[in-house]
Amino acid sequence: MWCKRVNFIPPFDLNEQFKLIGEEVGAAALEILASGRYIGGAPVDQFEQQFAQYIGTSHAIGCNSGTDALFLALRSLDIGAGDEVITSPFTFISTAGVISAVGAKPVFIDIDPQTFNLDLNQIEAAITPRTKAIIPVHLFGQPVDMTRLMAIAHSHNLWVVEDCAQSAGGTWQGKKLGSIGHIGCFSFYPTKNLGACGDGGAMTTHDATIDAKLRMLRDHGQRQRYACETIGVNSRLDALQAVILSIKLRHLDIWNAQRQAIADRYDSMLQPLPGIVTPQAIAGGTSVWNQYTIRLLDTDRLIDSGQVLDSGDRAKDLSQHRRDQVRQQLQQQGIGSMVYYPIPLHLQPVYAELGYRSGDLPIAEQMAREVLSLPMFPELSLVQQEQVVYTLKDCLIQT
Ligand SMILES: *Cc1c(COP(=O)(O)O)cnc(C)c1O
Repeated sequence: MWCKRVNFIPPFDLNEQFKLIGEEVGAAALEILASGRYIGGAPVDQFEQQFAQYIGTSHAIGCNSGTDALFLALRSLDIGAGDEVITSPFTFISTAGVISAVGAKPVFIDIDPQTFNLDLNQIEAAITPRTKAIIPVHLFGQPVDMTRLMAIAHSHNLWVVEDCAQSAGGTWQGKKLGSIGHIGCFSFYPTKNLGACGDGGAMTTHDATIDAKLRMLRDHGQRQRYACETIGVNSRLDALQAVILSIKLRHLDIWNAQRQAIADRYDSMLQPLPGIVTPQAIAGGTSVWNQYTIRLLDTDRLIDSGQVLDSGDRAKDLSQHRRDQVRQQLQQQGIGSMVYYPIPLHLQPVYAELGYRSGDLPIAEQMAREVLSLPMFPELSLVQQEQVVYTLKDCLIQT
């Protein structure tokens, strides 16, 4: 954990945002507290309508977290034992965890080093008669090419569940992410682009049947009170979080535009630096920059120090070493940064049973060794950003 120090720049900072909307949020929260109605009711209905309208779907269903949104999505599509679901190995654990939780098997395919997202060229080879769905993740806010992905899914009759946890407000071909697949899944964890003051999540869909099923599943499997049709879960969005999210939703486009401006500035300040790769936004959509993630390459260092690239493994070890060294030095000099994600999912201890080996998904493994996410939040000031870049330059010289 980073420490609170004068001038310390954290990877994300929720205090500045609270200063902006704190009064309004406080008043709305007090009203809920005084109402005595804390579960469901008008605040949740209103937020669901506003969110559906924002995303461009006919339905939005609130729930307890992004993880639950993904879990409920798979349950609503009757995905379970014996089924396979294709997804990315380079994402937060819950994207794959929910596949296992419903009893299905995650099938990982490698990623594209430019976008950190699923390499669409590899999907078809991974499809088997058991494949039921694909979960594309719009990682770091960057859209997956949904036109191509949906074409592949349609031709093989597969469901598409978009993991939009990091991409609220992002678009592909003018459509909001979460409105293109069969179900969109959102997290309102506080550090996401649209964050609650606690846990929260939502699912979006155009399909009335799926909507009804999701509503039933999030409320103990009951369509009518005390008449259970299936075993569901308790995963509702609290009224308190719903009113806070309604307030924040009004600011989301502005906050995302601020993130874009910060990303543009990082690009222009960092692109000339040797040995690092800045994130590339793909044409055809808009990223919402939940993270600004650079790669720290090791080649220059190897050549500079006169070492010979004797094997791929050696280069990979050094690369990891260098990223971790840079991160540690940044921390010492007052800059917080994060590594999303240090271990790709196919190599997680819990998935040893799936039989993947190191080297099976080489791009994901390389990215896990090279990535570093720099401070990124809408209120990051120009002065702070310059401090991040100057310090990073300093650390790069030293490592
Ligand atoms: C945050 C996140 C989730 C899970 O969301 P929670 O609300 O924390 O359960 C799922 N997938 C991705 C890509 C995430 O970043």
